[in-house]
Amino acid sequence: MNRVGRIAIVLLLFAFPNFLWAQQTDTLRPTVILISIDGFRPDYLDSTDCPNLRWLASEGVRAEWMIPVFPTKTFPNHYSIVTGLHPGHHGITANTMYDPKFDALFTMRKREEVTNARWWGGEPIWVTAEKQGLKTAPFFWPGSEAPIGGKRPTYWLRYDGSMSYMARVRKVLAWMSEPPDRRPSLITLYFEGVDHAGHEYGPSFAAVDTAVRKVDGALGTLLEGLDIKNQLDRTNIIVVSDHGMAATEKDKTIWLDEYIGLDSVRTVDWGPIVSVWVDSGHVQPVFQALSGAHPHMKVYRKADLPDRWYYRDHRRVAPITLVADDGWMIASKRFNPWQRSDHGGNHGYDNANPSMRALFLARGPSFRRGVVLPPFQVVHVYSLLAHLLGVAPVQTDGNLEPFRKALR
Ligand code: AMP
Ligand code: ZN
Ligand code: ZN
Repeated sequence: MNRVGRIAIVLLLFAFPNFLWAQQTDTLRPTVILISIDGFRPDYLDSTDCPNLRWLASEGVRAEWMIPVFPTKTFPNHYSIVTGLHPGHHGITANTMYDPKFDALFTMRKREEVTNARWWGGEPIWVTAEKQGLKTAPFFWPGSEAPIGGKRPTYWLRYDGSMSYMARVRKVLAWMSEPPDRRPSLITLYFEGVDHAGHEYGPSFAAVDTAVRKVDGALGTLLEGLDIKNQLDRTNIIVVSDHGMAATEKDKTIWLDEYIGLDSVRTVDWGPIVSVWVDSGHVQPVFQALSGAHPHMKVYRKADLPDRWYYRDHRRVAPITLVADDGWMIASKRFNPWQRSDHGGNHGYDNANPSMRALFLARGPSFRRGVVLPPFQVVHVYSLLAHLLGVAPVQTDGNLEPFRKALR
């Protein structure tokens, strides 16, 4: 073979695949990284030291706040964000819930239930995307460990709260370094420390500042890592929280056993919201014993739950639901939240309470710069994710409208 022929073969073997790779990388739709900072109140953005979060807000889009779903708990809200459905429609009606059909209790720690698809209704965005040929990596997102609709995400991990933030960020950067045919189009990332600090010390600046700094530092490492790979401006980054945090104190406790004998009912969960399961014949007397019992506890029969919560339709919603006013806790001799301290923080309250507001930030090639959006509900985020990923969405309770002003 002559010299020209040899050069042509070398070019074909080495340069052409690289050229193709570069072409593929460039034409690939930007990856979406959805980051959840559990329990991050939008006012922390101004009150705490978080330069990286502020940079995302100023370089991209910030919502005044996002309205969580009721109950303002971790699993219901995370699952509403990725399905576009209210808890009454997707079935994750609480972190701890009883299903009368299964005659089973779901808790976040019960691995055999968390990984069982029977609890998880609706279609999370990773299932929508995988069905349409994309690869996804919902990393530590509630629901990601179950084969929902018979479909698993390409990449997922068993939830491990002890995994360091840096290890989580490294995992995301490793996925971002995969060749285009293996790289996920959607990655999620989760941080729980701000929620933990809020529970322990309340939502004051001094209480959460250290936890916020730690998350912000991890985000800084992620942004730097993307920048080094020349991917920062090619990635759509969305940062959300699932709910806010209200200050609680021992003096604001509603001791339920002062009003009813707890042996005659089955209570599920304690704190801001309590589900009371009673046989149909006993609903009225229990309701009467509890309604008006305490000025800071609202008592709802299932049919009377407010329309705006879209909550009451599901079989996992108890015949009676107790909801405490902001900052109040429903407790009992069986559950005393004040063993270690007389102060703290909690969430789960009415989603209209300002203390329960959630965070929304977005930055990347699909977003305009410096836009501040008016408040919107978390159920709309699924539509935004579907739009960014270029997949056809399923029918949900949300739509793309709240984001029109923010999109390029
Ligand atoms: P809560 O504040 O009670 O609504 O729940 C927050 C807690 O949920 C966090 O402290 C985490 O430890 C836990 N958590 C978050 N994501 C998961 C998950 N995917 N699986 C199990 N537990 C989780
Ligand atoms: Zn949470
Ligand atoms: Zn929490």
